[in-house]
Amino acid sequence: MSHHPFEQDTTFAQIGNHKTEPLKAVSTPIYLSTSYRHEKIGHGNGYDYTRTGNPTRDVLEDAMARSEHGDRAFATSSGMSAIQLVFSLLAAGDHIVTCRDVYGGSYRYFAMLEEKQGFQFSYWNGQDADKLADYIQDNTKAIFIETPTNPLMTNIDMAAVSRIAKEHNLLFIVDNTVYTPFLQQPINEGADIVIHSATKYLAGHNDVLAGAVVAKGNKLCEELAYIHNSTGSTLAPFDCWLLMRGMKTLPLRMRQHEYNAKCVKAFLESQPLVNQVLYPGKGGMLSFYLNDETYVEPFLKALNLFTFAESLGGVESLITYPATQTHADIPEAVRHSYGLTNELIRLSVGIEHADDLILDLEHGLAAVAK
Ligand SMILES: *Cc1c(COP(=O)(O)O)cnc(C)c1O
Repeated sequence: MSHHPFEQDTTFAQIGNHKTEPLKAVSTPIYLSTSYRHEKIGHGNGYDYTRTGNPTRDVLEDAMARSEHGDRAFATSSGMSAIQLVFSLLAAGDHIVTCRDVYGGSYRYFAMLEEKQGFQFSYWNGQDADKLADYIQDNTKAIFIETPTNPLMTNIDMAAVSRIAKEHNLLFIVDNTVYTPFLQQPINEGADIVIHSATKYLAGHNDVLAGAVVAKGNKLCEELAYIHNSTGSTLAPFDCWLLMRGMKTLPLRMRQHEYNAKCVKAFLESQPLVNQVLYPGKGGMLSFYLNDETYVEPFLKALNLFTFAESLGGVESLITYPATQTHADIPEAVRHSYGLTNELIRLSVGIEHADDLILDLEHGLAAVAK
């Protein structure tokens, strides 16, 4: 299903400006109160304790659910806690099929679930949909993917995965951190659950740690609400507000990220010291291989504008070395087997002027050539 950019611009910009706000505040008030008075037994106003429900968080969760076309959303304290919330639906002895190129933190968490909680994981290459069914066992309960994958930036055919998931009655879970609901809405492609590290593009300013789970279907939403409240992985009211403030400009930012990324891609592809550029066709993320591992250090050192730092999706351009940063917890032999090698560099292209970004990269490559 295609997305509607104009409608999205409007709905994102209007987050939190809602008609039922008691004092008609345009920016959603931050309700810090952890507790709510009840006039008498059985006469609450819908709120009693902030872990269970908070008016500020409700506005955010409603916006998240609508942006992803889900029935309900759950704002969590980080992307990892969003992933943990979803995996709390499963239990010891369950088997999950995931893609080989996943966020390093997810890989580390899956390894922990295998070691300590009796889960089993299989890693599919994300490309051959006809091989996906071969990974499914009697105890398989879910398929978890990221698309595009990170850091290798390959798109996975969600409709194909969804067909197989439905055939085998499996939960289909998509981490939509990299494209965001502005570029892709996995529930429209058949996903049951969407996960976000809202720390990245949704918040957009490298200043709030947050996550989101969006789900479709009553039973699933009720189960997630029960776990969200029972485990307390909820997002604090001030962080909910920061996240809403960021989300208002998501469409604007994503357009600039994408424009800049395409400029940077064209530049890198013209460079003899660059071996290959990996760009999934949309969005603001790209990776590339330098011709030699020894180029990485002088290249990084010579950059001024790109900040050498972990994370992605903020207005400031970041450059990451997955081998020692985001994906350091994946054993080297495993990483190398699928192309996450020591020559690979990942860029989160920010919203600065594209010419300045290119100049900076030119500078870095010149230092290598010396
Ligand atoms: C960062 C990230 C996560 C983890 O999110 P946190 O907010 O750092 O906990 C999960 N998935 C992807 C794709 C990410 O980039």
